Amino acid sequence: MVRCAVLATLAALTPLAPLAAQHHGLDPANLDTTCRPCTDFNRYANGGWLARTQLDAQHASYGSFTELSERNQETLRGIVEQLAATAPAYARTNDEKVGAFYASCMDTATAEATGAKPLVPELARIALIRTTADVVNEVARLHRSGRSALFGFSGGPDFKNSTLTIVNVSQGGLGLPDREYYSRPDSATAAVRASYVQHLSRSLQLLGDAPARADSAAARIVALESAIARLHLTRVQRRDPNANYHKMPLAAADSLTPHLEWRAFLLAAGSPATDSVNVGQPTFFKGLDSLLAATPMADWRAYLRWHYVRPVMSALSAPFVREAFSFQTALTGVKEQQPRWRRCLGATGLALGDPLGQAYVRETFTPAARARAQAMVDNLVAALDDRLHTLEWMGDSTRSQALAKLRAFGKKIGYPDKWRDYSAIVVMRGAYIDNVLRAEVFASARNRERIGKPVDRAEWRMTTPTVNATYSASANDITFPAGILQPPFFDPAADDAVNYGGMGAVIGHEMTHGFDDQGRQFDAAGNLRDWWTPEDAQRFRARADLVARQFDGYTVVDSATHVNGRLTLGEDIADLGGLKIAYAAFQRSLAGKPRPPMIDGFTPEQRFFLAWAQIWRNKSTDQALRNQVLTDSHAPAVWRVSGPLSNLPEFAAAFACKQGDSMVRPDSLRAAIW
Ligand SMILES: [Zn+2]
Repeated sequence: MVRCAVLATLAALTPLAPLAAQHHGLDPANLDTTCRPCTDFNRYANGGWLARTQLDAQHASYGSFTELSERNQETLRGIVEQLAATAPAYARTNDEKVGAFYASCMDTATAEATGAKPLVPELARIALIRTTADVVNEVARLHRSGRSALFGFSGGPDFKNSTLTIVNVSQGGLGLPDREYYSRPDSATAAVRASYVQHLSRSLQLLGDAPARADSAAARIVALESAIARLHLTRVQRRDPNANYHKMPLAAADSLTPHLEWRAFLLAAGSPATDSVNVGQPTFFKGLDSLLAATPMADWRAYLRWHYVRPVMSALSAPFVREAFSFQTALTGVKEQQPRWRRCLGATGLALGDPLGQAYVRETFTPAARARAQAMVDNLVAALDDRLHTLEWMGDSTRSQALAKLRAFGKKIGYPDKWRDYSAIVVMRGAYIDNVLRAEVFASARNRERIGKPVDRAEWRMTTPTVNATYSASANDITFPAGILQPPFFDPAADDAVNYGGMGAVIGHEMTHGFDDQGRQFDAAGNLRDWWTPEDAQRFRARADLVARQFDGYTVVDSATHVNGRLTLGEDIADLGGLKIAYAAFQRSLAGKPRPPMIDGFTPEQRFFLAWAQIWRNKSTDQALRNQVLTDSHAPAVWRVSGPLSNLPEFAAAFACKQGDSMVRPDSLRAAIW
């Protein structure tokens, strides 16, 4: 890829400022116009920002998403600090619970005095484990208390009967982010592995183990996790919904795992009685059963001790908090902890998502803003409806089902119509770890209660201050929380071009997930059912293959670190389709009106694409990028700018790019799906 000139303005180390207030939508200072847009559009659109922004010690990655979520935190800080100042010792109302939870998190003196004492009783139980039945029972207890030990376990929709909540169990049990970390021979991965072993040993020493004993336990844990990792399907294999769906009667699950009796396990893990379970990956559970039978009890004790402590280390005293962070440094390259108030706001959002969300909405999101966002979603749906009518490669039978699916989309915008009930959670001022442990039990119980019941389609899976959006295949719905309906994604004061290129394309992205290589396998009711003719499915796959090959060709950090185009395929299809639909919706919105004026020398169409690039401006450490290409289904930001745009004739037309330019893929390789 041709590199372009970078503006030589290395500003101070504090450039992570909010958007310039005088420029609504796009700030010309963020561009690098010494670069041709047709050569490297990311550099052209974001070069000014890239040149003056330096990653500070507190960030492994920084971009528009970080910028906005930190701004949302600043809004929340004022609200929550007020609630914390007045919260009583024993909180009763939602506001009091938010205040008391945050106050306990900020109370470092009590955290120091408490240390890891509240963990002692469970650690003592784990030390007494002598049999395989003890191991299984402890795993169930950990699940009941909200820890995802050994494998994943949750209530969720049945892929083939989307109105019913069933038990899903799935591969898990690792302390590193992915199976690849246990086996890759390259030096960067080996360094992370070595750091992990040291981190394990030091963490166990903080719990009181002598160094030699902690070293030996660390080695046992890594050996056991490596054996578990070998049982894992790859992330690419797991993108096939059918590879994760094996619903069976409990007796059949029992014969897969003779050392794990599922009825007893479910009872101990807090599940209501049920007759069947979806064993996500049967080969994993079969292999796990062999490990249950063959692994020495000392290894299991070490493993369970670690997996009990690991998820809550950051809620303990300072030595544990520092140790947990030191491993983040090894994994992502981040050098310094975020200030405690930010970490406490994040934790409050995890524990008390809806009460915090209610407070956020009161402060930031008006009914008028919700109505504007709703109108934009409706315009995007209309544009995709149009497109489905004229899509040249799709036959009429598949087309009519695709239209039915689109028209059945649920739309969740801003905040839930019905908030969750938090009356059962106990929150008190005092030791933070106690609140965290109770919040985990509460979340686990709330999930278990759903099992065997109809799916509540009104429920949200994201909190309202979240800077993200989502599509659910089982619910066939799209969600846009108030947290993302803010600048630079969505700005009521900006021109439509910028709002369509930013938020509009995000909306289009989520809608397209309903029709990406995974989403297309679910029908209008959210059931895993093939509604495609074989010819249309074949034509879809051929188009999708072009996208996968395109992204396979991209690298980050060095020439050996490739994007995995099969892992990022769904997201890449969603970006491509989302931009196409948002652009069409933007053009529809112009019909019958006077043409909008140029702004800062750019046409509305150019501003549309500049807005897309703006939301993906990003700086990341090398470690974070390596981690991303291994574990994240989203391609690195730079390729989310160039990848889809280089397929779009609309982009080439807006900037007068020609065949042969880097930003114009040759016709034979150009991907177009939705
Ligand atoms: Zn996505």
